[in-house]
Amino acid sequence: MKQFSKELLVRPGSRIKLDDLDASDTHGISKAAAVAQLAKNLDRLRVLQYLLYAEGQRSVLVVLQGIDAAGKDGTVQHVMSGLNPQGVRVTPFKVPEGAEKRHDYLWRVHHAVPEFGQIGIFNRSHYEDVLVVRVHSLVPKSVWSKRYGQINDFEHMLTDNRTRIVKFLLYIDKEEQAKRFRERIEDRAKNWKFSLADLKEREYWDQYIDAYEDMLRKCSKPSAPWYVIPANHKWFRNLAVSQILCEELEAMSLKYPKPVADLSGIKFE
Ligand code: AMP
Ligand code: MG
Repeated sequence: MKQFSKELLVRPGSRIKLDDLDASDTHGISKAAAVAQLAKNLDRLRVLQYLLYAEGQRSVLVVLQGIDAAGKDGTVQHVMSGLNPQGVRVTPFKVPEGAEKRHDYLWRVHHAVPEFGQIGIFNRSHYEDVLVVRVHSLVPKSVWSKRYGQINDFEHMLTDNRTRIVKFLLYIDKEEQAKRFRERIEDRAKNWKFSLADLKEREYWDQYIDAYEDMLRKCSKPSAPWYVIPANHKWFRNLAVSQILCEELEAMSLKYPKPVADLSGIKFE
C-alpha cells in the first residue's frame, strides 16, 4: 500500500492549486482493496491508540477541515469509530457564542487540546478564523492576515510540548458538493443535515478555495503538516485518512512505559 503521508503531504512552503487536483483521484486503488486495507488500518490504529494511552506522555491532535458536505462527520464516524472512547475526544467548532465571543479566537481551541495519552479530533478548528472569517470579512484583513503567523506559533508551542498535530483538508469538487446537497434534500434521513445557509456558502466557493490555498501554503509545517485528501470517493477518503494516521502514530515510536517495579519475583498463592 502507498505511503500516503508522503503522497498527500503539503510540502512546507509549497503552493497547491486545488483546481489542478482531481478530487476523484483514487491513486490506482480499487474500492475492494481500499475497504480491505481500511479494516487493517483500523486494527492498527486501535493498537497504536492503546500504546499512546499506556505511554501517557504525548497526545495527538487531528484537525479536520473541508467545505460543507466534504465529509468531516463521515470521517469521524468511519475512521475514528474503532478507537477506544476513553482515549478520544471529538470537538466540533461552531459559530462562536457566549464566552467564546468574549475571548480571543484561540481561547476555546486551547481548552479543547487533548491531554497526554489522548487523541483529540477537531471537527472544524481555529482555521475557521482564516476561512469563514476571511471569506465573509467578519474581521478586517489587517486582523485575519496576522492569524497565519499566530496559528503557526500556537501550533509550534503545542508540538514543542508533546502534542503531535495532523491536519486534513477533505477536498471535494463543486459537482460532488451539488450531488451531496441533492441527496440531503431528497433523502428524508438526510434532510436534517441540509441548511439554506449551505446554499448561500456555495456561492462563495472560489473565495473559499483562495482561503484554503493560503492556509495550506502558510500553515503546513514539518511538525504540524497539512494533508489534502481527494474526498469525492468516501472509501478513498477513509482509506487515506486512516493510513496517514497510522503512519503518523507509528513515526512517534510509542512505547509501553517501564513496569513500576521488578515484576519477575512476584508470586500469588
Ligand atoms: P457545521 O460544521 O455544519 O455544524 O457548521 C458550523 C458552522 O460554524 C459553519 O458554518 C462554520 O463556518 C461556522 N464556524 C465555525 N467556526 C467559526 C468561527 N470561528 N467564526 C465564524 N463561524 C464559524
Ligand atoms: Mg454544515
